[in-house]
Amino acid sequence: MRYVSTRGEAPELDFGDVLLTGLARDGGLYVPKQWPRFSGEEWRALRGATYAEIALAVIKPFVGDTIYESDLADILTDTYAGFDHDAVAPLKQLDHNSWVMELFHGPTLSFKDYALQFIGRMFDHVLKERGERITIVGATSGDTGSAAIEACRDRDAIDIFILHPDGRTSDVQRKQMTTVDSLNVHNLAVAGTFDDCQDLVKGLFNDIAFRDEVNLSAVNSINWGRIMAQIVYYAHASLALGAPDREIAFAVPTGNFGNVFAAYAAREMGLPIAQLIVGANENDILSRFFQDNDMSMREVVPTLSPSMDIQVSSNFERLLFELMDRDGEATSHLMQTFRASGRLDLDEGRWRRALGLFAAHRLSNEESSAAMRGIHAATGELVDPHSAIGIVSGWTCRRDPSIPLVCVATAHPAKFPDAVEEATGIRPELPNHLADLFDREERFDRLRNNLGDLQATVRRSNRVGGEQNA
Ligand SMILES: *Cc1c(COP(=O)(O)O)cnc(C)c1O
Repeated sequence: MRYVSTRGEAPELDFGDVLLTGLARDGGLYVPKQWPRFSGEEWRALRGATYAEIALAVIKPFVGDTIYESDLADILTDTYAGFDHDAVAPLKQLDHNSWVMELFHGPTLSFKDYALQFIGRMFDHVLKERGERITIVGATSGDTGSAAIEACRDRDAIDIFILHPDGRTSDVQRKQMTTVDSLNVHNLAVAGTFDDCQDLVKGLFNDIAFRDEVNLSAVNSINWGRIMAQIVYYAHASLALGAPDREIAFAVPTGNFGNVFAAYAAREMGLPIAQLIVGANENDILSRFFQDNDMSMREVVPTLSPSMDIQVSSNFERLLFELMDRDGEATSHLMQTFRASGRLDLDEGRWRRALGLFAAHRLSNEESSAAMRGIHAATGELVDPHSAIGIVSGWTCRRDPSIPLVCVATAHPAKFPDAVEEATGIRPELPNHLADLFDREERFDRLRNNLGDLQATVRRSNRVGGEQNA
């Protein structure tokens, strides 16, 4: 499988290089040159398969010759063996035709573990074969950071730097990152918003000399490997509910558009996904886009669902590339104007085409709280604020109630105990393996919102090619 950039000017790469590269050199994102498509027969053959078996089938065409199939199978088995539910991504029925897909059974309790636990192992495998080391830098609004750190900690070939917006993540989220006591883990608290953190990371990648100097790589949601690994749970749920012989709809609480784009990819692979519902909080650029073709940037405001406090959804560019009929030049032009003017100018016809599949809904903080309370009252389920947004958006926007609706629960309620308790009166408990989190010591450095400072910090602290390399 070859990969092309959404902006059309970066070299085509194979999977191994795409995995290690992250952002393309033309500023775009890598996508498969063509979507692998399974027949109905091929999908049917996977019914009843385990999560790791489905993962192997789904991922194999994307990785091509980069890794032996038997090695890939071993990595996948190892990845999901550590999850705390035998089904890995269990479905729970909410009402007569809607389900919640619980994606919080990995080590850090968010859906990001499902891809990152796999990616960490893949990086290790590919780097060992090549005899290379890398520096991973990522921005997080909360959950990516801990999941990435947990996936990369103590790996010899990797140094990892994670930027988070100072004071804008939950205590649980911050502690999950800053209490990891590993020499290769570096936490940086940036004076700014998540978008500032993300811009700093993009700034690093756009400095090609620096990028080569420290062998820079990314595991944030622009990395194709993450999207790829996320396709698996959409296939797993679809098959469980009757695909390919029955349609299905998904509702996804959305920030960087990576999770819901994986559902789009699952559809391109031949699954009968009839509708994709995007849930947004008060940072509602995506719901304004899908509702009114108004994608205009505003200030980021902190909400009860901090992992969605985002105004520039990086992975949206991958959908845009599809909507532009995979024309890199046109996509690049749109993105540059969006960056310059703060407003995306998509023609009406393409926007309407997007609406054939997508719908979106926005919940304010009060509505998110009411959603947690209402879901608990109606179903007995305690859900986190992000998941509540997904569920209510799904219930609100579903087009056809006879099509099973699967709402994605992206975090365990105990990651956001204050918001959940405030809404429902019940304080969710951390699972056993994290019960002493608040007693562990924190370690992080503060950083100004300044690219030069970040570069200096990375040079000073990492072990790639620097003095500390000995
Ligand atoms: C990261 C995250 C999201 C947003 O996912 P995207 O792939 O960025 O759209 C939603 N909910 C939780 C709990 C998250 O950690």
